[in-house]
Amino acid sequence: MSNELKSRLDLCWEMGRTGRSPEALVEAQILLIEARRVGDQKAIAFALTCNAWFCLQLGYAEEGIDCVVEARSIYEQLEVDWGLALSSAVHSWIMLELGLSDLAFEEAKLALDAAERTDDLSLRSFVMSCKGMTLLVCRQDELATPILEEALELADRAGDACTIALNLINIGYSLASQAEAAENEGDVELGRRLWERSAMANDRAIEVARGYGDLWNLRIALCNGAETYTVMGELGLAEAYLDECADLDGRTGPREEVHYLYTRGEFLLRNGQPEEALQVCHQAARLAANSSQLDNKANTLRRLSEVEARLGDFQSALEHYRAYHEIFVRQMGDLTRRRAQIAEMQLQNRQWRAQVSRLETEAHEDALTGLPNRRAFDARFNALQGQVFSLAILDLDHFKLVNDRYSHMVGDAVLTRTGHLLLGWSEEMQAFRLGGEEFALLLPDFTAAAAWPVFDALRAAIGTTFWGDLGQGLMVTASIGMVDSVETGGRAMMEEADRRLYAAKNGGRNRVVGSGDFTMPRFARR
Ligand code: GH3
Ligand code: MG
Ligand code: MG
Repeated sequence: MSNELKSRLDLCWEMGRTGRSPEALVEAQILLIEARRVGDQKAIAFALTCNAWFCLQLGYAEEGIDCVVEARSIYEQLEVDWGLALSSAVHSWIMLELGLSDLAFEEAKLALDAAERTDDLSLRSFVMSCKGMTLLVCRQDELATPILEEALELADRAGDACTIALNLINIGYSLASQAEAAENEGDVELGRRLWERSAMANDRAIEVARGYGDLWNLRIALCNGAETYTVMGELGLAEAYLDECADLDGRTGPREEVHYLYTRGEFLLRNGQPEEALQVCHQAARLAANSSQLDNKANTLRRLSEVEARLGDFQSALEHYRAYHEIFVRQMGDLTRRRAQIAEMQLQNRQWRAQVSRLETEAHEDALTGLPNRRAFDARFNALQGQVFSLAILDLDHFKLVNDRYSHMVGDAVLTRTGHLLLGWSEEMQAFRLGGEEFALLLPDFTAAAAWPVFDALRAAIGTTFWGDLGQGLMVTASIGMVDSVETGGRAMMEEADRRLYAAKNGGRNRVVGSGDFTMPRFARR
C-alpha cells in the first residue's frame, strides 16, 4: 500500500470510528476510487472495509454487504490475517444488523480465528465483541458474558478507547437484558442489582467515549444509559443523557437517530407525556422503516406498541406488538437455536402470548362511543351470574331514519352523545354498546322494581335531550326491554330483555317494558 494512501485511509478509519461517519463515508468512497485507479489491492480492500463499516454505523447496513464481501475475498487471496479478521467482523456485524444472527455467528467465529493469528490486541478485542454481540442478540447472555469480559480486558491492555467503550456498552446491554429476565421471573431484587450494574458499566462507557471524543459510541451509550435510568425511575438522569445526546455536534445517520428517538419516546411515556411519546415514536418508526437495522426496528415497534396501549389504541398496539415479535423471533436465529435458546424463546413466547391477550382484552372498548363493547358486556354479564342484578337492552327508535334524513355522520354523532349520556348516567349503572344503536345496561344489586325508575328516567332523558344542534329538528327516542335475575336467570335473561324490547317497539316505542308488573304504559310519557 502506498504510504500516502495508507495514512489517508488510517485517518478515514479513525474519523468514522469516532462518530464522524457521514464525512468518513464520503472520504472512503473517494479513497476507494483512488485505490482502484492505482490498482493497490490492500488499499482497495481497506477502503471497501471502511465503506461497509461506515454504512453500518449510519444504519445502511445492507449497502455495505457488497463492499465487505469483496474486501474479505481480497484479504483471503492476499492471506492478510488482520484484514480478513476485520472484514469478517464487519461482515458479521452487518449480518447481525440485518437480523441474520446464524450467519453472523458463523462469520464471527471465522473472524476470531483470523484475529488470533495476529498479535493485534485491539483487533482481537473488536472481533471478540462482535462474537459476543451475536450471542447477545440471540439472548445467550451466559455465553456472551465471558467473551465480552475478555474482550474488554484485551481492549484495556491495548489502550484502545473506542473498543473499550464499545465493550463496556455491550456489557451494560447484557446486564440490562439479564435484569429484564430476572424481573420477568419475578426476582425484583436481583433485577434491581443488575440494572444498577448495567448503569455502572454504561456510565463508564460514556466517560471513556466522552474523553476520547468517540461520538458514535457516546451516542449509543447515552441512549442506553437514558433507557436504563428510565427503567430505574431516575428520570432526571435519563433526561440529562438524552439532552446531551441531542446536543452533540456532527451529523448522524438513521441508526443513531432512531435509537435516540425511541429512547426519548420511552422516557416521555414514563414521564407522563404519552401524546408526545407517540409523536416521537411515530417519527422513529418512519425513519426505522428506511433503515436496515433490525434491532432498531424491533425496539421502535415495541415502544410504539407500549405508547399506543397507554393511549388506549389497542388495535394499533396489538398490530405493532405482533410485528415486533416477528422480528424478535427472526433475530433468535434458525441454526443456532440450541437448547438454551429454545428455553429462552419459550419464556419470551409465554410473555408474548400474555401481552397479546392483554391487548386483546383491552381491545374491549367501542371506538365510536368509548363505551365497553359486546365482549366486555359478555364478560361482565357472566361475572354477575348468581347475583341479583337488572339487565336492560336499549335500542334507539327509527335510527335508520336518522341516517337517511340527516346522514350517517349525524347518526354517528347521535351514537356518541348517547354513549356519553349512558356513561355518566349513574354510579351504579354499567353501559355497553352491543352493536349498531343497541346498548346493554346493567344494574348490579338492583331488582327490577328498583331498576325500573332508573331506566325510565334514562329513557325520558334521551327523549328530552336537545339534539337540534346535530340536525335541524332532530329528535331521538329509545325503547328499552328489561329484566332482573330474580325473575329469569342465565342467558335466558338476554332473550327475555330482547323480547320485551320488541314489545316496547310494538307498543309504540319510547318506553320501557319490564315484567308484567312494570310494563306500565302509563309511565311512558309522550
Ligand atoms: P327501530 O325503531 O325498529 O329500532 O328502527 P331502526 O331504524 O332503529 O331499526 P334497525 O335497528 O333495523 O336499524 C338500525 C340502523 O342503525 C341500521 C344501520 O344502518 C344503523 N347503524 C348501525 N350501526 C351504525 C353506526 O355505527 N353508525 C350509524 N350512523 N348508523 C349505524
Ligand atoms: Mg333501532
Ligand atoms: Mg336495532
